[in-house]
Amino acid sequence: MLILYNTLTRKKQLFKPIHDRHVMLYTCGPTVYDHAHIGNLRSFLFEDLLKRVLKFNGFKVKHVMNFTDVGHLVSDQDEGEDKMEVGAQREHKTAWEIAEFYINAFKEDAKRLRMQEPDIWARATDHISEMIDLVRRIEEEGYAYVTDDGVYFNTLRLKGYGKLARLKAKGLKAGARVEMKGKRSPTDFALWKLSLGRKRDMEWDSPWGMGFPGWHIECSAMAIKYLGQTIDIHCGGVDHIPVHHTNEIAQSEVATGKKFSNYWLHNEFMLVDGRKMSKSLGNYYTLRDIVSKGFSPLAFRYLCLSVHYRSQMNFTLDALRDAENAVKTVNDFIFRLEQTKENNLARNKKIENALKTVKEEFMKSINNDLDTPNAFAALFKLMRSVNKEIDAGKADKKNLEAVLEFFRDINEVLDIAEEKQADLTPEEKKLLDLRESFRRQKDFKAADDIRNQLKEKGIILEDSPEGVRWRRAH
Ligand code: AMP
Ligand code: ZN
Repeated sequence: MLILYNTLTRKKQLFKPIHDRHVMLYTCGPTVYDHAHIGNLRSFLFEDLLKRVLKFNGFKVKHVMNFTDVGHLVSDQDEGEDKMEVGAQREHKTAWEIAEFYINAFKEDAKRLRMQEPDIWARATDHISEMIDLVRRIEEEGYAYVTDDGVYFNTLRLKGYGKLARLKAKGLKAGARVEMKGKRSPTDFALWKLSLGRKRDMEWDSPWGMGFPGWHIECSAMAIKYLGQTIDIHCGGVDHIPVHHTNEIAQSEVATGKKFSNYWLHNEFMLVDGRKMSKSLGNYYTLRDIVSKGFSPLAFRYLCLSVHYRSQMNFTLDALRDAENAVKTVNDFIFRLEQTKENNLARNKKIENALKTVKEEFMKSINNDLDTPNAFAALFKLMRSVNKEIDAGKADKKNLEAVLEFFRDINEVLDIAEEKQADLTPEEKKLLDLRESFRRQKDFKAADDIRNQLKEKGIILEDSPEGVRWRRAH
C-alpha cells in the first residue's frame, strides 16, 4: 500500500502502475552548464528515495533521466541566451565541451551521494530527430504556429492547458507582463527556435530552418521514446509545475492523444539561511563546496532525507553538522551491534517488541508519501532503547542480530551506512596490531605515532568501548 501525493489531483493517492509491478519513471535531469547546486541535488535525492521506496515495495522500476544540454534559456519564458552558451562564454570553451564536462561532474556528485544510476541517461542533443518528429506531429494536429524566430505551441487552442498548475490562460493574458515577441499568448512556448543567421555551437537543420529545440520538447520526446506514450510517474522540483511540466503535458498529449503521466511528484525548494540561493548573496553551495568544508557527502544525503520532500528545507551549516552527527550515531550503533560477542542471555522482550513496532512504523512511514522524518524518529527511538539494554548488560546476541539485519534491510532505502571498506592491506593490519600492543603496554606516545602514520595513509582510527574502529577518509 504505497501512497503518493499527486500534484495533478492535489491528493494523496494509492499508487498503481499501468503494468502490474513495473513502473515507468521519468525524472527531469540537470541543465549541464555548471555544477549542480545543493538545491538541485535535493531534488535528485528525493527522486532516488522514491525509486528505492518503489523497489522496496517489490516494484521493478525503469528510470530515465535526461541531461539538458541545449535549449534551456536563461528565462523559462523562452528569452535570453541559451544557458549552455552562457557556460561556454564563461569558460572560453564550446557548448559541447561544457556539456561533456558538467555531465561527468554531475555523475560524480550523484555517485558520491549514493544515488542509484538511472537505467537510461538521455542527452537532449542525442535526440534531435525525435524532437523534430514530435514538433511535426504537433504542427499536423494544428497546435503550432511559425513566427519570425521559431515555432510556437498555441496554448489558447488547447482545452485544459495548464491543468497541472491550475493556470487560467485567459486570465494570464490580461495581466501578464511577458515579452510577446510574436507569441499569440504569454503562455505560448517555443517548440523550435531559429538561429537567425547567428552561428551557434549547437544547431541543426529542420523543416523550419537552422536552429535548436525549445527546452520542454526534449523531455516529451525522450519520455515517449523510452517509456511509452503514457508513463507512471514524472518528477521534478516545484518550479517546474507552471511552465516546464505544464508544457510537457500539452505537447505530449497533443502529439499522442493520450494522457502523458498518471502521477506527478514534485519536491519543494531548498533555501539557504532562509533565503533563495544565489551567487551574489554568497549562499550558493555545490557538493564540492561542502565537502571542502570537511563534511561528508553522506551527511548531506542524510540531511535531505531527514526533511520531508514536500516541505521547504532551510539549509544551514549547523544543520549539516547535526546531520553528520546523526550519521555517526547510526554507524556507531551498527558497529556496536556487529561487535557483540556470544552470550547466554535470555531473549530480551523489550528489544523484540521495540523492533516489531519499528519495523511496522518504518514501512508505514515510507509508504505514506515517503515520510522519512517519521521513519528516522522511529529508528532513533529503537536505537535509544537497544543501547539502554546493551548498557544494562541485558541484550541477547540473537536479538541484536535481528536488529542488525533490520538496519541492513532498510539501508536499501536510506543508504547511510558506512561502506564495508576494503580490508586493510597486510602492512596496514600490522601497524594496527602494533598500535594495539603499545596501547596494552600503556605506551600511548608510540600508539599515537602509529595513529598518525595510518592517518597519512588515509585511515582514520576511532577508539570505542567495543574496540578500535577504522575507516578510510572520504
Ligand atoms: P535545472 O538544472 O535548473 O534544470 O534543475 C534541476 C532540478 O532541480 C529541477 O528539478 C529543479 O526543479 C530543481 N531545483 C532547482 N532549484 C532548486 C532548489 N533551490 N531546491 C530544490 N530543487 C531545486
Ligand atoms: Zn523535463
